[in-house]
Amino acid sequence: MWFLAVLPLAALFSAQADAGPSAASARALYVQPLGGCARQTPGVAEVVAALRAFYPIEVRVLACQELPRAAFYPPRKRYRAERLLAYLNQRMPKDGWRILGLTDVDISTTKGRYPDWGVMGLGELPGTATVISSFRCRKKARSAAHAIERLAKVAVHEIGHTLGLPHCPTRGCLMEDAMGKVVTTDRERDFCPRCRALARQQGFRITENPKAAWLQKR
Ligand SMILES: [Zn+2]
Ligand SMILES: [Zn+2]
Repeated sequence: MWFLAVLPLAALFSAQADAGPSAASARALYVQPLGGCARQTPGVAEVVAALRAFYPIEVRVLACQELPRAAFYPPRKRYRAERLLAYLNQRMPKDGWRILGLTDVDISTTKGRYPDWGVMGLGELPGTATVISSFRCRKKARSAAHAIERLAKVAVHEIGHTLGLPHCPTRGCLMEDAMGKVVTTDRERDFCPRCRALARQQGFRITENPKAAWLQKR
């Protein structure tokens, strides 16, 4: 009979390993709306739905916070993404696994020879904090819903970076490098098998056959 008692324990350990190295105390992916808190931050529900579809972890939304002044970059009147990541890591709840800041102001970071390059999102590679912005997702979007769909894909992409996934050369993979062009996200639908396997090697599971609305299109 002893082996019957051992089996559930083994199952418990493998479930924890799937969620990440600190899964015993960390249980939720937190979404932190940032800025313009007097009104609803666009895209929160869609971003949460996409994260739930791809990552087998609880997703919770925190109360909106105004953008930290320390992250403001006066020369371009926008916010530095890496400073927002530092701020978000400070705000991580005790049971947090990852935190994703969500804003509609323009955000930027240093990319190669560009000291201040506007981005759709930034995620630690690997790490715990990510930030995404709908500002660039709106460029040449067919509709508000189209822009929000792009934003949701960026959210899944940036959390992928925190799992240790680098950019992927496979066309249409969610880990493709946008190279500054938002239209890249329009051909992305799912992770490629190689990225899924890579996440698995790092001890994380990305849901197979995720149920995201954009997977049904085309
Ligand atoms: Zn990326
Ligand atoms: Zn890939």
